[in-house]
Amino acid sequence: MNHPENDDQYIGLQVNSGVTSQPIVNPYRNVHRARRRRLTPGEYVEGILKGDVSILGQAVTLVESTSEDHQATAQEVIEKCLPYSGNSRRIGITGVPGAGKSTSIDVFGLHVLRQGHRLAVLAIDPSSERTRGSILGDKTRMEKLSQEKDAFIRPSPSAGSLGGVARKTRETIVLCEAAGYDRIFVETVGVGQSETAVHSMVDFFLLIQLAGTGDELQGIKRGIMEMADGIAINKCDGDNVERARLAAAQFRNALHLFPPTPSKWVPEVVTYSGYYDLDVDKVWDMIDRYFEYVQKTGYFTEKRNRQAKYWMLETIDERLRTSFYSMPEVKALLEQKELRVLNNEQSSFTAAHDLLDFYFKKLKS
Ligand code: GDP
Repeated sequence: MNHPENDDQYIGLQVNSGVTSQPIVNPYRNVHRARRRRLTPGEYVEGILKGDVSILGQAVTLVESTSEDHQATAQEVIEKCLPYSGNSRRIGITGVPGAGKSTSIDVFGLHVLRQGHRLAVLAIDPSSERTRGSILGDKTRMEKLSQEKDAFIRPSPSAGSLGGVARKTRETIVLCEAAGYDRIFVETVGVGQSETAVHSMVDFFLLIQLAGTGDELQGIKRGIMEMADGIAINKCDGDNVERARLAAAQFRNALHLFPPTPSKWVPEVVTYSGYYDLDVDKVWDMIDRYFEYVQKTGYFTEKRNRQAKYWMLETIDERLRTSFYSMPEVKALLEQKELRVLNNEQSSFTAAHDLLDFYFKKLKS
C-alpha cells in the first residue's frame, strides 16, 4: 500500500507493510468431518427396539428438532414404537430449586437399578435458555447415575413454548419405553406451570419438599400440592431431623384439608435424606404402594387413557395455533387488527372473528 509516510522525502516514522494474518478457522475442517448417514425410520426403530443407546439418543434429537424433515421421520419412528411402549412406571419429580432433586434422583435412580430395572431420566424446563447439556437432567448433576449403563439421562429439550417442550418429552417417553426402559423419571422445577404438563404424562407425581422455618406451606403453590400423590421431605439428617418430622406432620394436616384425589388415593408424606441415602426405601415403598393401589382399582389405565386423549387434543391445539400464527397474511392482518382494537375502532371479538374467517377462507383457496 502507498503510504505518504514511506516517501523518501518524509522525515517522520515510516509505516511497516505488515503481514497477512492466517485464517482463524481451519479451511480444511469440513473436508475431514465424517458425515453420518441419516438412518431410515425403520433403522431407527430396529435400533431402539434392540436397546441401542446411541440410536435412541439420535432419535430423541430428531424428536427435538424443529426441522420439518426431521419431524416427519420422528413421527414415523414414534408411531412404530408406540406398540412397544407403555410398559413402565412414569414418575414425575418436582421441587423448588435447591430442594435436592438431582441429589435425590441420583440415589432414587440407583435404588431402582438395584431392583433390576432400567431407568430413563427426562426433564421439562421450558424456562431454560441455557444450552443443552447444562439444563435439568444434566449428567454432571447426577454423578453416580450417569455412570450406570442401565440409566439413560437426557436434559430438557431446549427452551421453547411449554406445550412444545412438554410434547417432546412425552414423545421421548414413548421411545425410551420401546427401548426397554421400564422406569421413567420426569423432573421439573417446582415453580411454574410445567408441573401441570408433567402431571399429564406421569402415573405418580412426587413433590420434594424441605423443612423450613415458619410457615411450611409458604412458597409452594397450592395447585402443586393438590397434584402430588406423595410428598417427600428431604434433608432429614443431622440437626434437621426434628424439623423435617415436624414439617411432615404439618403437611399431613394440610393435605387433609384438600378435596379427595380422583384416584381416592390419600397422598402420603415421608421424610428422607437424599444426600446421606437415609430412608430412601421409605419413599420407594410409598410409590410401590401407590402403583399396587391404582392397578387394583383400575385407575392406572383410566389415567393413562385420559392422558392419551389429552395429548391428542394438545397436539391439535398446537398444530392449529402454529398454522394460524405462521401464515404471513394472517400475521399482517393481525398487526392491523391489533391497532384497530387498541384505538377502539373495533371490538376484540369482531376482530378475532374477522381474523379467523380470513384464515379459514385462505385455507380453502
Ligand atoms: P435441586 O436444585 O433441587 O436439583 O437440588 P440439588 O440436588 O442440587 O441440591 C441442592 C443442595 O442441597 C446441594 O448443595 C446438596 O448437596 C444439598 N442436599 C441435597 N440433598 C440433601 C440432603 O439430603 N441432606 C442435606 N443435608 N443436603 C442435601
